[in-house]
Amino acid sequence: MNTSSRKIDPSEKFINEDVINELLSSTAEPSLEEVEAIIAKSMSKEILSVEEVATLLRINNDEHMQKVFETAKTIKQSIYGNRIVMFAPLYISNYCVNGCTYCGYKCSNEFPRKILSDEELQKEARVLVEMGHKRIVIEAGEDYTNCPVDYITHAMDVLYKTKVDNGALRRINVNIAATSVENYKKLKAADIGTFILFQETYHEESYKSYHPTGPKSNYLYHLTAMDRAMEGGIDDVGIGALFGLYDYRFEVLALMMHRDHLEEKYGVGPHTISVPRIKKAKDVSVDDMQYAVSDEDFKKLVAIIRLAVPYTGIILSTRENAEFREEVVNLGVSQLSAGSKTDVGGYQDDEKMENQFELADHRSQEEIIESLLKKGYLPSYCTACYRTGRTGDRFMQVAKNGTIQNLCQPNALMTLSEYLEDYCDDELKALGNKVIEANIDKIPSDKMRAKTIDRLQRISDGERDLFF
Ligand code: SF4
Ligand code: SF4
Repeated sequence: MNTSSRKIDPSEKFINEDVINELLSSTAEPSLEEVEAIIAKSMSKEILSVEEVATLLRINNDEHMQKVFETAKTIKQSIYGNRIVMFAPLYISNYCVNGCTYCGYKCSNEFPRKILSDEELQKEARVLVEMGHKRIVIEAGEDYTNCPVDYITHAMDVLYKTKVDNGALRRINVNIAATSVENYKKLKAADIGTFILFQETYHEESYKSYHPTGPKSNYLYHLTAMDRAMEGGIDDVGIGALFGLYDYRFEVLALMMHRDHLEEKYGVGPHTISVPRIKKAKDVSVDDMQYAVSDEDFKKLVAIIRLAVPYTGIILSTRENAEFREEVVNLGVSQLSAGSKTDVGGYQDDEKMENQFELADHRSQEEIIESLLKKGYLPSYCTACYRTGRTGDRFMQVAKNGTIQNLCQPNALMTLSEYLEDYCDDELKALGNKVIEANIDKIPSDKMRAKTIDRLQRISDGERDLFF
C-alpha cells in the first residue's frame, strides 16, 4: 500500500484537542451535587457526555471518588453480573516496518523475526483449544511484504478449521495495523469477530513523537481506521489507548469523542474499550515515563469509563499483575485475557522468542479460572453474539433494553460447563459446578432458565456448542 493512498483530509479529525484541553484546564473540585447528578445519570444506564466525564476526572475528594467506585461496581453487577469473558491473544507475526518507540517489535530492534506457518498455526490453535479457549485475538506487526492481509485471512481460515476433540476456536478477533476499506472487506469475508485497534495516544503531537517512522506515523490514517472498518462492513470494533504515553485524562476524554464519532456517523459505538498500561519491553524502560499512570489513577479511569459507557465491554490484559487485575475487575472490567503469551509461537514452544512487552500476570489459564471461581466470578467462553449475527446495532439494541441478560448468563453457564467437562480435573469441576448452580437463578426469564437447565444436562450428556 503506497503512502499517497493513506492521505486523509485533516477535516476528518474528530478529536477536538482544544475542547479537551479547555475541559482539562479546570481543576475545580466538583461539588457533591454535581457528582451525584452524574452518578444518577449513569445508574439509569445513559452514556455520559464528554463534559460529564471531564467532571468526574476532576474528582480529588476521596469520599466523592468512593461514590464513583461504588457506582462502577453496581453498574458492573447490574449489566455484567459476575461474568467475565475469557480470551487469549495469539501473536502470528512479529515482522514490523514501524518504529513505535514503546514496542519490543519496532523495526530497529534486531532479533530473528518470525511468521507462523500453517503447521505452526495449527499447533498454536491446538494448544489454545486444549487450554479451553474459544475466543482469541490475533496480533501481528505491520509489514505488507512479509505479512500481507491475505496472510492474516488465510491464518484465520487455518485457525477456524483446527478442531481438537470437542473443541475449536469459535471467534477470532483481529488486532492489526490500520488498513484500507478493501482489506477490511477481506477480513469481514474471513469471519472476523471484532476489529481491535488502539490509538495508542490520541494526542497528535505526542503520537508523532512515539511513532517517528513507518506507515503508522500517519496519525490521521490510524485515527480513521474504524471508519474504514465500518465502510468495509465490520460493525464490531474495539478501541483503546496505551495508558502512560500521555495524560490519561486526555486519553479518556478522547476515547469518549471517538465513541461519539462512531455513534453519530454509524449509529453504533465501540463494542469494547481496552485499557492497556505501558510496560517494559526490549530497549524500553518505563521508569522515566512522564505520564506513567499510578495504580490509583488506573482504577479511577477504569471506574469512570464504566460509568461513561455502561454497555461497552472493558478489556484488561495480562500486562497487569494478578492481584491488581482482580481488584480492577470489580470496577467494571468485563473481559480478561488468560494464560497469555506475547511472543510468536509462544504457546507451542518453550524456546522463547522476543516478547512485544513484558507480562505481569504469569498464571496459567487454569490458575486464573480457579482463582476467579473461588471469588465467585463466572468465567464465560461465550461467543454467541458474533455467531448469531448479533453485532453492531443489533447487539446494542439488546444490550440497551437489558434483554442481553437472558442471553449472556445462560451462555456463560453453558460454556463454563463445557470447559469443566472437557478440560478440568475433578476438583476444579466440582468448584465450577458449584458456581454454575449458584448462578442459575440469576437468569431473569423463567423460560430461559428452564431452557438453560435442559441444555446444561445435554452438555453433561456430551452435546457441545449450544448457545442462545
Ligand atoms: Fe509494530 Fe505494532 Fe509494535 Fe508498532 S506497536 S512497532 S506497529 S508491532
Ligand atoms: Fe458477549 Fe453476546 Fe455472549 Fe453476552 S451473549 S457474553 S454479549 S457474546
